[in-house]
Amino acid sequence: MVGVSGADLPRAIDPDVLRPRLPSPLQEVADERFARHGVRLLLKRDDLIHPELIGNKWRKLVPNLAAAGGRTVLTFGGAYSNHLRATAAAGRLLGLPTVGVVRGHELADRPLNPSLARCAADGMRLHFVDRSAYRRKDEPETRAALLRATACEEAYVVPEGGSNALAVRGCTALGEELRGHADVVALACGTGGTLAGLAAGLSPGQRALGVPVLRGGFLGAEIRALQDAAFGGPRGEWSLDERFHFGGYARTPPGLDAFAADFGRRHGLPVERLYVAKSLYGLVSLVEEGAFPRGTTVAAVVTGRPDVS
Ligand SMILES: *Cc1c(COP(=O)(O)O)cnc(C)c1O
Repeated sequence: MVGVSGADLPRAIDPDVLRPRLPSPLQEVADERFARHGVRLLLKRDDLIHPELIGNKWRKLVPNLAAAGGRTVLTFGGAYSNHLRATAAAGRLLGLPTVGVVRGHELADRPLNPSLARCAADGMRLHFVDRSAYRRKDEPETRAALLRATACEEAYVVPEGGSNALAVRGCTALGEELRGHADVVALACGTGGTLAGLAAGLSPGQRALGVPVLRGGFLGAEIRALQDAAFGGPRGEWSLDERFHFGGYARTPPGLDAFAADFGRRHGLPVERLYVAKSLYGLVSLVEEGAFPRGTTVAAVVTGRPDVS
């Protein structure tokens, strides 16, 4: 199976519960910052796939939920992780037990922030660990101790951010849906799992352009490793532009907020700040730098939407 579509939802999952809107809508929008340079802009509305498993989280989680086969799903995240929230929501919808291992032991003694409160309300059991244990969570001994401490030795483990080989293969459908529609596909990257799959699904001549929202310049190697794990080698044409992280994860300076609010007003969609705003800002900057020849069609993937809670 390449990619996941509504038609081939894994049988273990009740299709009425997680039925997605796929392919996600593709909308052309008029934006003079692009038109002035002879560039067409399309929005790939992955934010509309599912009301609770939003955007790329649906594409990445569903193949893993199927593989879990009814076992408890254990995964990892920071205090504001979209991935933890999506996993918790999926657990509630499917009646699957979920456990979230959260970075930051000190959080255990404080009232839950809205993101973690939502996870808990969805039935996710939260387990807080200190930052050094969290950093070592993928090392065998730390992992084994964690699974013992949470009584989860039998659980199905999804890595931080949800990006494993199944998740990456789930995202190839996003590329396939864009075949024939755009020359360049731009998106925000956290773990890079979505980009790794998307690039593999595009047709020759199309390319993916990733905007990392974390600082560090390590993401290229991780995307290559994810493609190795998912496909046995490199796939598709892709590149990263590392200039638009705005200081790092969850940093959203006022200039970025203003940009996002303005983009949302122009085009009538809510712009999520941690990821989507940075990718759109990067895209507008690239167009204004003349990075795309006239006649180019660019699709921006709207990978998520702001919290509605
Ligand atoms: C999780 C998330 C991403 C990052 O996806 P990766 O596959 O980790 O690169 C991008 N955008 C939004 C809105 C997200 O929630």
